Amino acid sequence: MVSTFPNPASVDFSRIRLSIRSLQPQLIEWRRRLHQQPELGFQEKLTAEFVSYKLQEWGIEHQTNIAQTGIVATIKGNKLGTEKVLAIRADMDALPIQELNEVPYRSQHDGVMHACGHDGHTAIALGTAYYLQQHRQDFAGIVKIIFQPAEEGPGGAKPMIEAGVLKNPDVDAIIGLHLWNNLPLGKVGVRAGALMAAVESFQCTILGKGGHGAMPHQTVDSIVVAAQIVNALQTIVARNVNPIDSAVVTVGELHAGTKCNVIADIAKMTGTVRYFNPAFDGFFKQRIEQIIAGICQSYGASYDLEYWSLYPPVINDASMAELVRSVAEEVIETPMGVVPECQTMGGEDMSFFLQEVPGCYFFVGAANPDKDLAYPHHHPRFDFDETALAMGVEIFIRCVEKFCA
Ligand SMILES: [Zn+2]
Ligand SMILES: [Zn+2]
Repeated sequence: MVSTFPNPASVDFSRIRLSIRSLQPQLIEWRRRLHQQPELGFQEKLTAEFVSYKLQEWGIEHQTNIAQTGIVATIKGNKLGTEKVLAIRADMDALPIQELNEVPYRSQHDGVMHACGHDGHTAIALGTAYYLQQHRQDFAGIVKIIFQPAEEGPGGAKPMIEAGVLKNPDVDAIIGLHLWNNLPLGKVGVRAGALMAAVESFQCTILGKGGHGAMPHQTVDSIVVAAQIVNALQTIVARNVNPIDSAVVTVGELHAGTKCNVIADIAKMTGTVRYFNPAFDGFFKQRIEQIIAGICQSYGASYDLEYWSLYPPVINDASMAELVRSVAEEVIETPMGVVPECQTMGGEDMSFFLQEVPGCYFFVGAANPDKDLAYPHHHPRFDFDETALAMGVEIFIRCVEKFCA
């Protein structure tokens, strides 16, 4: 729980347009409906049906079933101006978590919960689509709204790009937001460059030789080998990474042994690696294998290592970050409401879109401890202050009007 927040009640929302403020009851209704029917990655069937139903009701052209459950809506402005194409991305998936909130709109799906706020992202994207369709005279060019599956894994961004969502018409830039309980309501986190980390993971099996706990000389103790490896892996960040860069190597699982007087023949570990600097692509994989191979060799053990590069780092384009920052400052009146101190070692597959076209991913503060809405993301009691929904729509709309001018 974060307790150092300013009181969000002091946040003034008068900068949010009346027409967007009047959308707020619908934004809440859509978000709560989605919250009640959370679906895991690539299974967002009800979610996609609801999104498609709404887009159809509003007469918005869209394609469905992209990368299984994804949707792309296209809205063309009527204003005369440059014909730019801006994409707005929202993720739709939930998590395998049993919700502990006792709210009327709690999850109706056992063991599945919108514990990251993607229900809010989908509602914000719907509200943005609705507003843009009603106000086509206010922007030139084209807006593509991308409803993406499976952000929490295995990742829906890459297959959507492979399915051509950034082509025909070709997208010039992309923006996206995350409702963020690490920031209080009324703050927006936006920065140029690295915002979120690359995500890699590994699984290693140490193969020793089992035996009697009292006769270690007849064995190769996989637990002793694994312990050396866990310690040595920490030296990658401490001794190989430039201290100016940030990186994490975490061993999250270590399983070995069956009994106190039996030497374990096998030890298994899994871990995750995070970093911002794209130059580290491939580096951790190589260094982790060197350490594991070297230690195993010195103890007479062998190993089996699997390594996955999951998401690259989220890197914002400087001019797109400036667009979002300038727009957010118009929306947030609070002094210091827009902050660049918002980097996190969490990952996001928005990074795949940002590798293809310049763009900006940003955080919209959504925590409100006064309403007990400040639990961290992925917590079974996660929830957010829904006032942030209208704020998200307002920022998206102003970005469209400025970019597609
Ligand atoms: Zn998440
Ligand atoms: Zn998320």
